[in-house]
Amino acid sequence: MIEVRGLVKRFEGRAVSRNAVDGIDLDVPEGKLVTLLGPSGCGKTTTLRLIAGLERPDAGRISIGGKLVCAPGEGVYVGVHHRPIGVVFQSYAVWPHMTAIENVMFPLRSGQKRLPRAEARRRAMEALDMVGLADLADRPAPALSGGQQQRISLARALTREPEVLLLDEPLSNLDAGLRDRVRDEIRGVQQRLGITTVFVTHDQDEALAVSDEVIVMDRGRIVERGAAQEIYAWPREEFTARFMGISNSLPGTVLSRDANTVEIDLVQGRLSCLPTGKLSEGSSVNVFLRPESLVLSRKDPSGRGWKGTVEFSIYHGDCWDYHVRVGDTLLRSRMYREKIGLAHGDPVYVVPEEATAIAIPVNTDGDA
Ligand code: ATP
Repeated sequence: MIEVRGLVKRFEGRAVSRNAVDGIDLDVPEGKLVTLLGPSGCGKTTTLRLIAGLERPDAGRISIGGKLVCAPGEGVYVGVHHRPIGVVFQSYAVWPHMTAIENVMFPLRSGQKRLPRAEARRRAMEALDMVGLADLADRPAPALSGGQQQRISLARALTREPEVLLLDEPLSNLDAGLRDRVRDEIRGVQQRLGITTVFVTHDQDEALAVSDEVIVMDRGRIVERGAAQEIYAWPREEFTARFMGISNSLPGTVLSRDANTVEIDLVQGRLSCLPTGKLSEGSSVNVFLRPESLVLSRKDPSGRGWKGTVEFSIYHGDCWDYHVRVGDTLLRSRMYREKIGLAHGDPVYVVPEEATAIAIPVNTDGDA
């Protein structure tokens, strides 16, 4: 549904000489939700604005629904109002002097559309119904919560009956509790309507929750892409592993590898890991372990535990995070259910779950 090839965007006069978008290729299949995920400044909003037609690229091609909408090399440029898209921004841009339904009707009554009032109202009601706000149609906009206002801007985007929905950090202005509700609402509407969607966020949890596919970006480029579960459980790149919050990283050397696992020699001992990339005997890796893959125990019947000392613990409601010093390394272990009652200075064994450790080749191209 969306096909992007070789997309490049430069902004003149930037302190950094890099391109804001530096050769992006991406495909969004019909009916899927694909997320652009990355840290601030990585170029995700610019990529979305280029797809929307709110920015012009320096190079590349963009097609939507099989129709070429932008190709500077071929002199093709279809403006934002003529692309089959609906856009929702972080600032929900709801007009305060109007009611909910007037906000949704406005674009239908103005511009090129100019639908009769009754028809515009019917279409706006349908869109409000899709986002669960039909009951509040006649409420003045200032009397709506932030989450409701964001759903109004989603309804407004849907009235265009777009082939593609483009959402730029639509949740970041909302409080934590509300954010989850609007997130679920957006994913619900997107799946019910089967509407092809690009969603921009810097929040890993949000990306995992809503996406069919996650595209991880850094410095204007795509680092990695995959199903949400793959990006979470088996990242192939160190940048992704760190960005997805795999906080434990241990340097090691490859001892041997077969099709499914790789044996790594760590200071702490040997460990079987999931392999990524080109790993040959003797090569240097970083082993990434999620806090929940490090189990703490007072005894070590398996003989696989790493001896350490508890530094401190943090309580999160459904789990505890223990920070444990093993040699020179501070490791984080997450324990669900039972608190094992460890305190600062207590000796403990850290037992790594082998099936979930990931070995990633050390980046040696100096471009870290
Ligand atoms: P954020 O999450 O902070 O919005 P982002 O990943 O969406 O970040 P972009 O907004 O796409 O990043 O910006 C990419 C780079 O381009 C940044 O370095 C930014 O400063 C720069 N940039 C974006 N818009 C402009 C502009 N209009 N003029 C100059 N530089 C710009």
